[in-house]
Amino acid sequence: MVCRQCGTEIAAKAIICYKCGAATATPAPARRVSPGRGAGAKASAYNTWLIAAVIAILAGAIWWWMRYR
Ligand SMILES: [Zn+2]
Repeated sequence: MVCRQCGTEIAAKAIICYKCGAATATPAPARRVSPGRGAGAKASAYNTWLIAAVIAILAGAIWWWMRYR
């Protein structure tokens, strides 16, 4: 296929143009902008809290273990 941004010939399966970095597939950028973005941000925020909770629990467990061993 040909890059829409710079006209360089790139692989048909390429997601982005290797020369200018422009996205070749329409679904990917569209997904980022429409509802997917909000859901993704929500999911990533949830994952952040989940990771923070796990770290807090682990830190607490280590603290108790160090205190009472
Ligand atoms: Zn390009």
